[in-house]
Amino acid sequence: MTDVFAGMKESPFWWEEAPRPDEPPPELPADVDVLIVGGGFSGLCAARILARAGKSVLLCEANFTGFGASTRNGGMLGPSFHKLGVKGLTARYGRGRTNAILKQSIGFVDFVKDLVEEDAIDCEFQRAGRFRCASRPRHYEHMAREMEIQVRTTGIDAEMIPAARVREEIGSDRFHGGVRYLIDGGLHPGKYHDGLLRVVRNAGAIYAPRTEVTKLQRSTNGFRISTSRGDVDAGQVAICTNGYTGNVTPWFRKRLLPIRSAMIATEPLDPVVMQRLMPTRRMYGDSRRVMAYYRPSPDGQRILFGGRAAGSGDRPQKNARDLRDMMLDVFPELDKLQITHSWSGFVAYTFDHAPHLGEHDGLFYAMGYCGSGVARSSFFGTKLGHKMLGNEEEGRTAFDDMSFETKPFYTGSPWFLPALVRWHRIVDRLGF
Ligand SMILES: Cc1cc2nc3c(=O)[nH]c(=O)nc-3n(C[C@H](O)[C@H](O)[C@H](O)COP(=O)(O)OP(=O)(O)OC[C@H]3O[C@@H](n4cnc5c(N)ncnc54)[C@H](O)[C@@H]3O)c2cc1C
Repeated sequence: MTDVFAGMKESPFWWEEAPRPDEPPPELPADVDVLIVGGGFSGLCAARILARAGKSVLLCEANFTGFGASTRNGGMLGPSFHKLGVKGLTARYGRGRTNAILKQSIGFVDFVKDLVEEDAIDCEFQRAGRFRCASRPRHYEHMAREMEIQVRTTGIDAEMIPAARVREEIGSDRFHGGVRYLIDGGLHPGKYHDGLLRVVRNAGAIYAPRTEVTKLQRSTNGFRISTSRGDVDAGQVAICTNGYTGNVTPWFRKRLLPIRSAMIATEPLDPVVMQRLMPTRRMYGDSRRVMAYYRPSPDGQRILFGGRAAGSGDRPQKNARDLRDMMLDVFPELDKLQITHSWSGFVAYTFDHAPHLGEHDGLFYAMGYCGSGVARSSFFGTKLGHKMLGNEEEGRTAFDDMSFETKPFYTGSPWFLPALVRWHRIVDRLGF
Protein backbone atom coordinates (compact mmCIF):
# COMPACT_ATOMS: atom_id res chain seq x y z
CA MET A 1 0.00 0.00 0.00
CA THR A 2 1.37 3.46 -0.85
CA ASP A 3 2.07 5.83 1.98
CA VAL A 4 0.02 8.93 1.11
CA PHE A 5 2.00 10.98 3.65
CA ALA A 6 5.46 10.05 2.28
CA GLY A 7 7.55 13.18 1.73
CA MET A 8 4.89 15.44 3.26
CA LYS A 9 6.25 18.86 4.26
CA GLU A 10 5.37 20.18 7.70
CA SER A 11 5.07 23.78 6.53
CA PRO A 12 2.40 25.84 4.74
CA PHE A 13 1.76 25.14 1.07
CA TRP A 14 1.79 28.95 0.58
CA TRP A 15 5.45 29.19 1.58
CA GLU A 16 6.46 27.30 -1.60
CA GLU A 17 5.67 30.31 -3.78
CA ALA A 18 6.06 32.90 -1.06
CA PRO A 19 8.95 31.62 1.08
CA ARG A 20 9.41 33.39 4.40
CA PRO A 21 12.27 35.87 4.01
CA ASP A 22 15.24 35.08 6.21
CA GLU A 23 16.35 38.66 6.70
CA PRO A 24 18.47 40.14 9.47
CA PRO A 25 16.43 42.45 11.71
CA PRO A 26 17.10 46.15 11.12
CA GLU A 27 18.65 48.43 13.70
CA LEU A 28 15.93 49.77 15.99
CA PRO A 29 15.26 53.53 16.15
CA ALA A 30 15.42 55.12 19.61
CA ASP A 31 11.96 56.58 19.26
CA VAL A 32 9.03 56.47 16.85
CA ASP A 33 5.56 57.94 16.60
CA VAL A 34 3.93 54.50 16.56
CA LEU A 35 5.07 51.03 17.56
CA ILE A 36 2.96 48.11 16.37
CA VAL A 37 3.23 44.73 18.10
CA GLY A 38 2.62 41.86 15.63
CA GLY A 39 3.62 41.63 11.97
CA GLY A 40 0.52 40.03 10.38
CA PHE A 41 -2.26 41.57 8.28
CA SER A 42 -3.67 43.65 11.19
CA GLY A 43 -0.32 45.27 11.96
CA LEU A 44 0.62 45.76 8.31
CA CYS A 45 -2.72 47.34 7.39
CA ALA A 46 -2.53 49.74 10.35
CA ALA A 47 1.07 50.59 9.42
CA ARG A 48 0.04 51.25 5.80
CA ILE A 49 -2.32 54.02 6.89
CA LEU A 50 -0.07 55.47 9.56
CA ALA A 51 3.14 55.55 7.50
CA ARG A 52 1.34 57.10 4.54
CA ALA A 53 0.07 59.83 6.85
CA GLY A 54 3.70 60.67 7.64
CA LYS A 55 4.06 58.89 11.00
CA SER A 56 7.28 57.09 11.83
CA VAL A 57 6.22 53.48 12.37
CA LEU A 58 8.04 50.46 13.79
CA LEU A 59 6.41 47.02 13.43
CA CYS A 60 7.84 44.48 15.85
CA GLU A 61 7.42 40.81 14.95
CA ALA A 62 8.63 38.32 17.58
CA ASN A 63 9.45 35.62 15.05
CA PHE A 64 10.44 35.57 11.36
CA THR A 65 8.62 37.78 8.83
CA GLY A 66 4.96 36.77 8.55
CA PHE A 67 5.27 34.04 11.16
CA GLY A 68 1.67 34.14 12.45
CA ALA A 69 -1.70 33.09 11.05
CA SER A 70 -1.52 35.62 8.21
CA THR A 71 0.66 33.38 6.03
CA ARG A 72 -0.86 30.10 7.25
CA ASN A 73 -4.56 30.57 6.57
CA GLY A 74 -6.84 29.29 3.83
CA GLY A 75 -6.92 32.65 2.07
CA MET A 76 -10.72 32.53 2.07
CA LEU A 77 -12.46 35.90 2.04
CA GLY A 78 -16.01 36.59 3.07
CA PRO A 79 -18.28 38.90 5.01
CA SER A 80 -17.94 36.40 7.90
CA PHE A 81 -21.39 37.25 9.13
CA HIS A 82 -21.25 37.14 12.86
CA LYS A 83 -21.10 33.64 14.37
CA LEU A 84 -24.13 34.44 16.52
CA GLY A 85 -26.32 34.64 13.44
CA VAL A 86 -28.81 37.39 12.80
CA LYS A 87 -31.08 36.29 15.67
CA GLY A 88 -28.27 36.16 18.21
CA LEU A 89 -26.89 39.49 17.02
CA THR A 90 -30.27 41.20 17.27
CA ALA A 91 -30.84 39.82 20.77
CA ARG A 92 -27.50 41.23 21.88
CA TYR A 93 -27.20 44.52 19.99
CA GLY A 94 -30.69 45.40 18.76
CA ARG A 95 -31.92 45.65 15.18
CA GLY A 96 -30.19 48.92 14.20
CA ARG A 97 -26.70 47.84 15.16
CA THR A 98 -27.21 44.36 13.74
CA ASN A 99 -28.12 45.83 10.37
CA ALA A 100 -25.06 48.09 10.51
CA ILE A 101 -22.79 45.11 11.30
CA LEU A 102 -24.24 43.04 8.45
CA LYS A 103 -23.98 45.91 5.97
CA GLN A 104 -20.40 46.69 6.91
CA SER A 105 -19.40 43.02 6.83
CA ILE A 106 -20.70 42.67 3.31
CA GLY A 107 -18.13 45.24 2.20
CA PHE A 108 -15.09 43.34 3.58
CA VAL A 109 -14.30 41.44 0.37
CA ASP A 110 -14.59 44.55 -1.80
CA PHE A 111 -12.39 46.32 0.71
CA VAL A 112 -9.60 43.77 0.14
CA LYS A 113 -10.18 43.82 -3.62
CA ASP A 114 -9.82 47.62 -3.71
CA LEU A 115 -6.74 47.52 -1.50
CA VAL A 116 -4.88 44.98 -3.65
CA GLU A 117 -5.83 46.85 -6.81
CA GLU A 118 -4.82 50.23 -5.42
CA ASP A 119 -1.41 48.96 -4.34
CA ALA A 120 -0.92 46.52 -7.24
CA ILE A 121 -0.52 43.55 -4.90
CA ASP A 122 -0.33 40.39 -6.97
CA CYS A 123 -1.91 37.82 -4.64
CA GLU A 124 -4.19 35.88 -6.96
CA PHE A 125 -7.37 37.49 -5.68
CA GLN A 126 -10.33 35.62 -7.16
CA ARG A 127 -14.02 36.42 -6.76
CA ALA A 128 -14.86 32.72 -6.58
CA GLY A 129 -17.93 32.75 -4.36
CA ARG A 130 -18.60 30.35 -1.50
CA PHE A 131 -20.72 27.26 -1.09
CA ARG A 132 -21.70 26.48 2.48
CA CYS A 133 -22.77 22.88 2.62
CA ALA A 134 -25.62 21.75 4.88
CA SER A 135 -24.38 18.75 6.85
CA ARG A 136 -27.93 17.94 8.05
CA PRO A 137 -31.39 18.59 6.58
CA ARG A 138 -32.18 20.72 9.65
CA HIS A 139 -29.12 22.89 8.93
CA TYR A 140 -30.46 23.55 5.44
CA GLU A 141 -33.69 24.95 6.91
CA HIS A 142 -31.73 27.13 9.31
CA MET A 143 -29.46 28.39 6.50
CA ALA A 144 -32.49 29.29 4.41
CA ARG A 145 -33.95 31.41 7.24
CA GLU A 146 -30.61 33.17 7.85
CA MET A 147 -30.07 33.78 4.15
CA GLU A 148 -33.51 35.28 3.75
CA ILE A 149 -32.75 37.87 6.46
CA GLN A 150 -29.27 38.54 5.06
CA VAL A 151 -30.67 39.18 1.59
CA ARG A 152 -33.44 41.39 2.96
CA THR A 153 -31.01 43.40 5.13
CA THR A 154 -28.03 43.73 2.84
CA GLY A 155 -29.10 42.75 -0.66
CA ILE A 156 -26.33 40.12 -0.75
CA ASP A 157 -26.31 37.86 -3.82
CA ALA A 158 -27.15 34.44 -2.38
CA GLU A 159 -29.17 31.40 -3.32
CA MET A 160 -30.25 28.20 -1.60
CA ILE A 161 -29.19 25.12 -3.57
CA PRO A 162 -31.35 22.11 -2.69
CA ALA A 163 -29.92 18.61 -2.31
CA ALA A 164 -31.09 17.61 -5.81
CA ARG A 165 -28.84 20.32 -7.32
CA VAL A 166 -25.88 20.04 -4.97
CA ARG A 167 -23.60 18.57 -7.65
CA GLU A 168 -23.76 21.88 -9.49
CA GLU A 169 -21.53 23.13 -6.67
CA ILE A 170 -19.67 20.17 -5.20
CA GLY A 171 -18.97 16.60 -6.27
CA SER A 172 -20.10 14.98 -3.05
CA ASP A 173 -23.19 13.11 -1.86
CA ARG A 174 -22.45 13.96 1.75
CA PHE A 175 -24.62 17.10 1.92
CA HIS A 176 -28.26 18.10 2.08
CA GLY A 177 -27.97 21.14 -0.15
CA GLY A 178 -26.44 24.41 0.92
CA VAL A 179 -26.22 28.12 0.37
CA ARG A 180 -24.26 29.82 -2.41
CA TYR A 181 -22.80 33.28 -1.88
CA LEU A 182 -21.31 35.03 -4.87
CA ILE A 183 -19.57 37.85 -3.02
CA ASP A 184 -16.88 35.72 -1.34
CA GLY A 185 -13.41 35.22 -2.72
CA GLY A 186 -9.98 33.80 -2.21
CA LEU A 187 -6.36 34.90 -2.37
CA HIS A 188 -2.83 33.63 -1.79
CA PRO A 189 -2.11 34.74 1.78
CA GLY A 190 1.68 34.44 1.48
CA LYS A 191 1.74 36.72 -1.57
CA TYR A 192 -0.75 39.10 0.08
CA HIS A 193 1.55 39.39 3.10
CA ASP A 194 4.59 39.95 0.86
CA GLY A 195 2.70 42.65 -1.06
CA LEU A 196 1.53 44.48 2.06
CA LEU A 197 5.05 44.34 3.46
CA ARG A 198 6.44 45.94 0.30
CA VAL A 199 3.80 48.69 0.43
CA VAL A 200 4.43 49.41 4.10
CA ARG A 201 8.21 49.54 3.66
CA ASN A 202 7.84 51.80 0.62
CA ALA A 203 5.77 54.12 2.79
CA GLY A 204 8.70 54.35 5.22
CA ALA A 205 7.69 52.00 8.03
CA ILE A 206 10.30 49.71 9.60
CA TYR A 207 9.35 46.01 9.86
CA ALA A 208 11.55 44.31 12.43
CA PRO A 209 11.41 40.49 12.49
CA ARG A 210 12.86 38.59 15.47
CA THR A 211 12.06 41.53 17.68
CA GLU A 212 9.82 40.44 20.53
CA VAL A 213 8.14 43.08 22.64
CA THR A 214 8.77 42.02 26.23
CA LYS A 215 7.50 44.97 28.30
CA LEU A 216 5.26 48.00 27.86
CA GLN A 217 5.47 50.88 30.30
CA ARG A 218 3.77 54.26 30.34
CA SER A 219 6.12 57.23 30.00
CA THR A 220 5.63 60.99 29.97
CA ASN A 221 5.27 61.13 26.17
CA GLY A 222 3.61 57.79 25.54
CA PHE A 223 5.26 54.42 26.11
CA ARG A 224 8.69 52.97 26.85
CA ILE A 225 8.85 49.59 25.12
CA SER A 226 11.38 46.87 25.90
CA THR A 227 12.11 44.43 23.10
CA SER A 228 14.41 41.42 22.80
CA ARG A 229 16.76 43.74 20.85
CA GLY A 230 16.64 46.96 22.86
CA ASP A 231 14.32 49.69 24.11
CA VAL A 232 12.22 52.07 22.04
CA ASP A 233 10.08 55.10 22.97
CA ALA A 234 6.77 55.47 21.14
CA GLY A 235 3.99 58.02 21.26
CA GLN A 236 1.36 55.40 20.47
CA VAL A 237 1.25 51.59 20.59
CA ALA A 238 -1.01 49.16 18.72
CA ILE A 239 -1.48 45.55 19.79
CA CYS A 240 -2.04 43.32 16.74
CA THR A 241 -1.14 39.91 18.11
CA ASN A 242 -4.50 38.06 17.73
CA GLY A 243 -4.03 34.30 18.38
CA TYR A 244 -0.44 34.87 19.52
CA THR A 245 -1.27 37.39 22.26
CA GLY A 246 1.02 36.73 25.23
CA ASN A 247 1.68 37.82 28.77
CA VAL A 248 3.04 41.25 27.78
CA THR A 249 -0.58 42.31 27.38
CA PRO A 250 -2.49 40.32 30.04
CA TRP A 251 -5.68 42.40 29.69
CA PHE A 252 -5.99 41.31 26.04
CA ARG A 253 -4.83 37.75 26.69
CA LYS A 254 -7.69 37.33 29.17
CA ARG A 255 -10.18 38.23 26.47
CA LEU A 256 -8.98 35.86 23.74
CA LEU A 257 -9.25 32.11 23.29
CA PRO A 258 -6.28 30.96 21.16
CA ILE A 259 -7.32 27.95 19.09
CA ARG A 260 -5.12 26.00 16.73
CA SER A 261 -6.46 25.58 13.21
CA ALA A 262 -4.76 23.24 10.72
CA MET A 263 -4.63 22.63 7.00
CA ILE A 264 -3.40 20.09 4.48
CA ALA A 265 -2.65 20.37 0.76
CA THR A 266 -2.99 17.50 -1.71
CA GLU A 267 -0.89 16.77 -4.77
CA PRO A 268 -2.40 18.11 -8.05
CA LEU A 269 -5.57 16.27 -9.07
CA ASP A 270 -6.43 14.97 -12.49
CA PRO A 271 -8.21 17.99 -14.10
CA VAL A 272 -11.26 15.85 -14.90
CA VAL A 273 -11.60 14.82 -11.24
CA MET A 274 -11.08 18.39 -10.07
CA GLN A 275 -13.82 19.57 -12.41
CA ARG A 276 -16.18 16.97 -10.98
CA LEU A 277 -15.40 17.69 -7.30
CA MET A 278 -15.20 21.48 -7.41
CA PRO A 279 -16.99 22.44 -10.64
CA THR A 280 -17.35 26.09 -9.66
CA ARG A 281 -13.95 26.38 -7.88
CA ARG A 282 -15.54 28.12 -4.88
CA MET A 283 -14.55 28.43 -1.25
CA TYR A 284 -16.34 25.72 0.76
CA GLY A 285 -17.39 25.08 4.34
CA ASP A 286 -19.89 22.94 6.15
CA SER A 287 -22.39 23.53 8.93
CA ARG A 288 -21.09 21.29 11.67
CA ARG A 289 -20.03 22.69 15.04
CA VAL A 290 -16.47 21.51 14.41
CA MET A 291 -16.52 22.66 10.83
CA ALA A 292 -14.26 21.92 7.89
CA TYR A 293 -13.27 24.50 5.27
CA TYR A 294 -11.70 23.84 1.89
CA ARG A 295 -10.90 25.31 -1.47
CA PRO A 296 -8.94 24.71 -4.64
CA SER A 297 -5.41 26.12 -4.73
CA PRO A 298 -5.35 29.40 -6.73
CA ASP A 299 -4.14 27.49 -9.82
CA GLY A 300 -7.15 25.19 -9.45
CA GLN A 301 -5.03 22.03 -9.27
CA ARG A 302 -4.94 20.97 -5.62
CA ILE A 303 -7.37 20.80 -2.73
CA LEU A 304 -6.50 22.70 0.44
CA PHE A 305 -8.49 21.34 3.37
CA GLY A 306 -8.68 22.77 6.89
CA GLY A 307 -10.29 22.32 10.25
CA ARG A 308 -9.74 22.35 13.99
CA ALA A 309 -6.32 20.94 14.96
CA ALA A 310 -5.81 18.19 17.50
CA GLY A 311 -4.98 19.99 20.77
CA SER A 312 -2.94 23.16 21.16
CA GLY A 313 0.50 21.74 20.27
CA ASP A 314 1.88 21.64 16.73
CA ARG A 315 1.15 18.06 15.56
CA PRO A 316 1.39 18.08 11.74
CA GLN A 317 1.34 14.27 11.37
CA LYS A 318 -1.75 13.77 13.53
CA ASN A 319 -3.51 16.78 11.97
CA ALA A 320 -2.74 15.46 8.48
CA ARG A 321 -4.33 12.08 9.29
CA ASP A 322 -7.41 13.67 10.88
CA LEU A 323 -7.92 16.20 8.09
CA ARG A 324 -7.44 13.56 5.40
CA ASP A 325 -10.15 11.45 7.07
CA MET A 326 -12.46 14.49 7.03
CA MET A 327 -11.59 15.14 3.38
CA LEU A 328 -12.35 11.52 2.45
CA ASP A 329 -15.68 11.83 4.21
CA VAL A 330 -16.54 14.57 1.68
CA PHE A 331 -14.61 13.20 -1.33
CA PRO A 332 -14.16 9.41 -0.86
CA GLU A 333 -12.57 9.06 -4.30
CA LEU A 334 -9.42 10.91 -3.17
CA ASP A 335 -8.13 7.99 -1.09
CA LYS A 336 -5.07 7.45 -3.31
CA LEU A 337 -4.10 11.11 -3.36
CA GLN A 338 -0.80 12.14 -1.82
CA ILE A 339 -0.85 14.72 1.00
CA THR A 340 2.02 17.12 0.29
CA HIS A 341 1.79 19.70 3.13
CA SER A 342 0.46 19.88 6.68
CA TRP A 343 0.59 23.00 8.82
CA SER A 344 -1.24 24.93 11.49
CA GLY A 345 -1.45 28.23 13.35
CA PHE A 346 -3.43 30.05 16.00
CA VAL A 347 -6.69 31.91 15.55
CA ALA A 348 -8.33 33.89 18.37
CA TYR A 349 -11.93 33.49 19.46
CA THR A 350 -13.71 35.86 21.82
CA PHE A 351 -16.38 35.24 24.43
CA ASP A 352 -19.01 37.20 22.47
CA HIS A 353 -17.97 35.69 19.09
CA ALA A 354 -17.22 39.19 17.75
CA PRO A 355 -13.98 40.78 16.56
CA HIS A 356 -12.85 43.83 18.56
CA LEU A 357 -10.95 47.03 17.93
CA GLY A 358 -10.45 50.25 19.83
CA GLU A 359 -8.35 51.59 22.68
CA HIS A 360 -7.85 50.31 26.20
CA ASP A 361 -5.69 52.05 28.78
CA GLY A 362 -3.92 54.01 26.03
CA LEU A 363 -3.18 50.88 23.96
CA PHE A 364 -4.86 50.60 20.57
CA TYR A 365 -5.87 47.12 19.41
CA ALA A 366 -7.53 45.07 16.66
CA MET A 367 -8.06 41.33 17.26
CA GLY A 368 -10.41 38.42 17.97
CA TYR A 369 -11.42 37.57 14.41
CA CYS A 370 -12.84 34.18 15.48
CA GLY A 371 -11.14 32.23 12.69
CA SER A 372 -12.30 34.54 9.88
CA GLY A 373 -9.58 37.12 9.84
CA VAL A 374 -8.14 37.59 6.37
CA ALA A 375 -10.61 40.25 5.27
CA ARG A 376 -11.51 41.33 8.79
CA SER A 377 -7.90 41.96 9.89
CA SER A 378 -7.29 43.98 6.71
CA PHE A 379 -10.36 46.11 7.40
CA PHE A 380 -9.85 46.38 11.16
CA GLY A 381 -6.12 47.13 10.83
CA THR A 382 -6.91 49.92 8.39
CA LYS A 383 -9.63 51.36 10.62
CA LEU A 384 -7.29 51.12 13.58
CA GLY A 385 -4.72 53.17 11.68
CA HIS A 386 -7.33 55.88 11.11
CA LYS A 387 -8.41 55.81 14.75
CA MET A 388 -4.80 56.31 15.84
CA LEU A 389 -4.54 59.31 13.52
CA GLY A 390 -7.70 60.75 15.06
CA ASN A 391 -9.61 60.44 11.76
CA GLU A 392 -12.99 59.98 13.42
CA GLU A 393 -15.07 59.58 10.29
CA GLU A 394 -12.71 57.20 8.45
CA GLY A 395 -11.96 55.21 11.60
CA ARG A 396 -15.57 54.56 12.57
CA THR A 397 -16.91 50.99 12.35
CA ALA A 398 -20.12 49.19 13.25
CA PHE A 399 -18.04 47.23 15.78
CA ASP A 400 -16.95 50.25 17.85
CA ASP A 401 -17.50 50.37 21.61
CA MET A 402 -18.54 46.76 21.98
CA SER A 403 -17.69 45.62 25.46
CA PHE A 404 -14.65 43.30 25.25
CA GLU A 405 -15.62 40.59 27.70
CA THR A 406 -13.66 38.09 29.73
CA LYS A 407 -14.86 35.44 32.20
CA PRO A 408 -14.05 35.09 35.89
CA PHE A 409 -10.80 33.17 36.55
CA TYR A 410 -9.90 33.02 32.84
CA THR A 411 -6.26 34.04 32.29
CA GLY A 412 -5.71 33.18 28.64
CA SER A 413 -5.21 29.38 28.55
CA PRO A 414 -8.44 27.74 27.43
CA TRP A 415 -7.88 24.45 29.34
CA PHE A 416 -11.58 23.61 28.87
CA LEU A 417 -11.45 23.66 25.04
CA PRO A 418 -10.39 20.04 24.32
CA ALA A 419 -13.40 18.79 26.33
CA LEU A 420 -15.67 21.28 24.56
CA VAL A 421 -14.42 20.23 21.11
CA ARG A 422 -14.90 16.55 22.02
CA TRP A 423 -18.46 17.38 23.08
CA HIS A 424 -19.11 19.30 19.84
CA ARG A 425 -17.81 16.36 17.80
CA ILE A 426 -20.25 14.05 19.63
CA VAL A 427 -23.10 16.48 18.96
CA ASP A 428 -22.06 16.62 15.27
CA ARG A 429 -22.03 12.83 15.07
CA LEU A 430 -25.43 12.56 16.73
CA GLY A 431 -26.73 14.95 14.13
CA PHE A 432 -27.99 17.88 16.18
C1 LIG B 1 -4.75 27.33 9.57
C2 LIG B 1 -5.51 28.63 9.51
C3 LIG B 1 -6.47 28.81 8.52
C4 LIG B 1 -7.19 30.02 8.45
N1 LIG B 1 -8.02 30.22 7.38
C5 LIG B 1 -8.66 31.41 7.24
C6 LIG B 1 -9.41 31.68 6.08
O1 LIG B 1 -9.45 30.89 5.13
N2 LIG B 1 -10.07 32.87 6.02
C7 LIG B 1 -10.01 33.80 7.02
O2 LIG B 1 -10.63 34.85 6.93
N3 LIG B 1 -9.22 33.59 8.11
C8 LIG B 1 -8.53 32.44 8.25
N4 LIG B 1 -7.69 32.24 9.30
C9 LIG B 1 -7.54 33.33 10.31
C10 LIG B 1 -6.60 34.45 9.82
O3 LIG B 1 -5.42 33.91 9.31
C11 LIG B 1 -6.26 35.38 11.01
O4 LIG B 1 -7.47 35.81 11.63
C12 LIG B 1 -5.47 36.60 10.60
O5 LIG B 1 -4.36 36.24 9.82
C13 LIG B 1 -5.03 37.40 11.82
O6 LIG B 1 -4.05 38.34 11.44
P1 LIG B 1 -3.28 39.17 12.54
O7 LIG B 1 -2.34 40.07 11.85
O8 LIG B 1 -4.27 39.81 13.47
O9 LIG B 1 -2.51 38.07 13.41
P2 LIG B 1 -1.28 37.11 13.00
O10 LIG B 1 -1.08 37.03 11.54
O11 LIG B 1 -1.48 35.83 13.73
O12 LIG B 1 -0.01 37.89 13.56
C14 LIG B 1 0.20 38.09 14.93
C15 LIG B 1 1.70 38.17 15.12
O13 LIG B 1 1.98 38.73 16.41
C16 LIG B 1 3.27 38.26 16.76
N5 LIG B 1 3.50 38.53 18.19
C17 LIG B 1 2.82 38.03 19.25
N6 LIG B 1 3.34 38.54 20.41
C18 LIG B 1 4.33 39.37 20.06
C19 LIG B 1 5.26 40.17 20.81
N7 LIG B 1 5.22 40.21 22.16
N8 LIG B 1 6.17 40.91 20.15
C20 LIG B 1 6.20 40.91 18.78
N9 LIG B 1 5.36 40.15 18.03
C21 LIG B 1 4.45 39.39 18.65
C22 LIG B 1 3.23 36.80 16.39
O14 LIG B 1 4.51 36.26 16.24
C23 LIG B 1 2.42 36.81 15.09
O15 LIG B 1 3.24 36.76 13.95
C24 LIG B 1 -6.96 31.05 9.42
C25 LIG B 1 -5.99 30.86 10.41
C26 LIG B 1 -5.27 29.68 10.46
C27 LIG B 1 -4.22 29.49 11.53
